[in-house]
Parts: sequence; C-alpha cells; structure tokens
Amino acid sequence: MLLYLSPQTVVFPAPVVESKEPVVQVRLSYSAVSSYEKCPLSYRFQYVDGLEVEPTSYLSFGRSMHAALEWLYDRDTPEPPSLEGLLAYLDKCWESEGYASLEDERSFLKNAREVLTQYYYSNLDAFRLPVAVEERFEIDMDDYILSGVIDRVDCNVDGTYEILDYKTSRRLPELSRLREDLQLPIYQLACREVWGITPSKLTFYYLIPNRRYTTRPCDADGLSRVEERLAHTAQCISKGDFPATPNRLCPWCSFEDICPERTATGHLGESYLARHRALLRRRVKLEEAIALLEEEMDREGITIAGEDERHPSPGA
Ligand code: SF4
Repeated sequence: MLLYLSPQTVVFPAPVVESKEPVVQVRLSYSAVSSYEKCPLSYRFQYVDGLEVEPTSYLSFGRSMHAALEWLYDRDTPEPPSLEGLLAYLDKCWESEGYASLEDERSFLKNAREVLTQYYYSNLDAFRLPVAVEERFEIDMDDYILSGVIDRVDCNVDGTYEILDYKTSRRLPELSRLREDLQLPIYQLACREVWGITPSKLTFYYLIPNRRYTTRPCDADGLSRVEERLAHTAQCISKGDFPATPNRLCPWCSFEDICPERTATGHLGESYLARHRALLRRRVKLEEAIALLEEEMDREGITIAGEDERHPSPGA
C-alpha cells in the first residue's frame, strides 16, 4: 500500500510496525518479559527492531548504584572496604547520560552518595562475601533462552541461600504488584537450573528508603506457573504477536513518537507522516553516532578489513 498525500509526498507504511514476520529465536530476560507484558509493541520496538531506548536519569542512576555495590562486594577477602573507597568508586563509575542539566546530575550524585552511605553503615556489621555478585546466566529452556544478571546471592549464617536484587525507585510498590512480579522467581529458576540450589529467601533491597522486602521462594507449583507464563510469552513473541497496548506509562515510553496508538489523530496519513519523521530523526542520530565512532577509530588507528564492513549495503 502506498499513501499519496500530496504531489510531493509519498509515504511508505513503516514496516517496522506493521510486519508480522515470526521471530526465529526467542530470548527472554526479566526486562523483556515485563516489557512484553506491559505492551507487546513497545517490546517489539526495543527487542526485535533494536531501536534505542532514550537514556534517562533514573536508568543512569540505577546503573551507577549497581556498579558501586558490585565493587563493594566483589572482592577476594572478607574485610569490607572503606566508605571513602566506595564513594570514590561511585565517582569513577558514575554515568552522566540522561540528566536534564549539570545541576540535575549533581543533585542525583549527592543523593547517590547519601544513599550509599546509609546502605554502608546499615550493612557494615553483617558484611560477608556473597557467593555470587552480578552473576550472568543463560539457560536453554527448550522453547526459548532465558538470560539475566542476578545482583547478589548470599549464603546466610544458617547455610541457606538468599537472592537479592537492588531497587533504586524512590517509592515502595504495592505488595500485590510485588507478589505478581516475575524477577525474583526467574532468578530462583536460574539458581535451580545453573547451581541446583533452592534459596530460602528472595529479597528486593530498596536502596533509597533502605528497606528490604523479603519473601519465601516459590514452591514447585509456583515455579511451574512462572515457567508457564514465560513459555506463553515466548510463544506469543514467536508468533509475531505485537499489539499496541496503551497504558498509564505511555507518556514515558521511548517509542511514543513512532507508536500508531499515540500518533493517531483520526487521519491515517498524518499518523504515518509523524511516525516516518520520527524514524528519520532516529536515523540521523544513528548516522551521527556512527560518524563519531568512525572518527574515534581513525584517531586510534583502528581499521576494519574492507570499507564495505563499515558501510554495508541494506540487507547485507
Ligand atoms: S506509547 Fe504506549 S501503546 Fe505505544 S508502544 Fe509505547 S507503551 Fe505501547
């Protein structure tokens, strides 16, 4: 279908949204499943089409805090490092992307230092080396690949295991939402598949309010339900089922500008035009990023064999 809006304007329907080609290999992580469950189209933009998610202050803040806590626990001897060392490492690993201004970034950094200081003193007396820190896993579940990164696994004094995940949101979510959440059950599944262990506790550690939310692990039935939910998501993805599902988080969606639901004005042509313009803007940004990278590679004297690899033809 071609849309002719004016003699000069020909708009091709954006294949990135409309195509129903099945996805060959489904890879699931907690973030991917949760993205699909919120809005399959948003999942598709990010995980199938590979479109970039806008950097935000909250993502950068979260990654910086995770990196600092990884440094705190990932060591060879059981003595805790100093608070000064931890804060110095925070400065080193701090991510600056996504902040509205320098002032905004400074205020987040100040808050990060306060939160880490509070965390440090609350946990200093009980400091022990974890059995795993930022542990990556990738499991072949027959119908799909399940992957992820577990923030921390502790072996408690009674010899049982506890899975921990750090959260950097300001407010604690409602308990009903936490009970439905798949993240810790997925990590429990990973512990079973990778190490053959069943933890005795699953904990979300909310860093800003300095509160732990701990639950018992899923029993066998609970874990089967988690596996069914994952298998169902994988099946929908492999069928190419990506309906747009407007929800309360749409205003913060990175793909609002190319979403048919959010660009709809009652005039089909205008909607296509808006999405087309938004995709072109993304292409310009991407080309600028490629040019910068190539300049950097030239400065470093890094060359790729054959110019064609730098500028492959479409579809290559
Ligand atoms: S704007 Fe809303 S409906 Fe559109 S892709 Fe994003 S989450 Fe889905």
